[in-house]
Amino acid sequence: MINIVLFGPPGSGKGTQAQHLIEKFNLKQISTGDLFRYNMKNETELGKLAKSYIDKGELVPDQVTTDMLIDEVKKPTDTRGFIFDGYPRTAIQTQSLEKIVKEILNDDISVCLSLVVDDEVLVERLLKRGETSGRTDDSNEEIIRNRITEYYTKTAEVAELYKQQGKYAEVNGVGEIEEIAQKLFAEVEKVQK
Ligand code: AMP
Repeated sequence: MINIVLFGPPGSGKGTQAQHLIEKFNLKQISTGDLFRYNMKNETELGKLAKSYIDKGELVPDQVTTDMLIDEVKKPTDTRGFIFDGYPRTAIQTQSLEKIVKEILNDDISVCLSLVVDDEVLVERLLKRGETSGRTDDSNEEIIRNRITEYYTKTAEVAELYKQQGKYAEVNGVGEIEEIAQKLFAEVEKVQK
């Protein structure tokens, strides 16, 4: 199997690059942000809870996020592995993911691929995306900046944990989409079993 953590701040291009990785390596993407948006659209209890955090640019609590992820990982799939997009976002989630992959998939995380993009480029990209995405959390610069602050205070340490395990690779997230995808492919090829 190949199990990839696709990592980076909001607006770094994780969703876009996940599509390329899915096709290239036959993987299933699990995006916790997409799952929350699906629940918000369908006005489920989980969606209502998530909305109260997402609309402020804050992280949703670990436990509900992890329970939602577990349900997704348990669904049968005939792909070669998974792309975890937007999870883990805290040190606790990083430990949870290790356990989930071990216990449910009987495997390990192969690599954490990190997309690196300057803050001001992120703000610019997200404001632009907000013109068409319909996402409440893309619509306002203050919320966008709060998401970036959440990233530095709670999420950035996830990178350190994968670095310590020798499972971390950084790729410049600014440039042509296709070029960035090729760099990510090269990193995955290094760890393919
Ligand atoms: P994303 O689409 O990945 O940018 O996620 C949108 C929002 O969903 C984030 O700003 C968080 O509020 C929430 N979210 C997504 N994934 C997680 C996670 N792993 N932990 C906590 N909150 C999350």
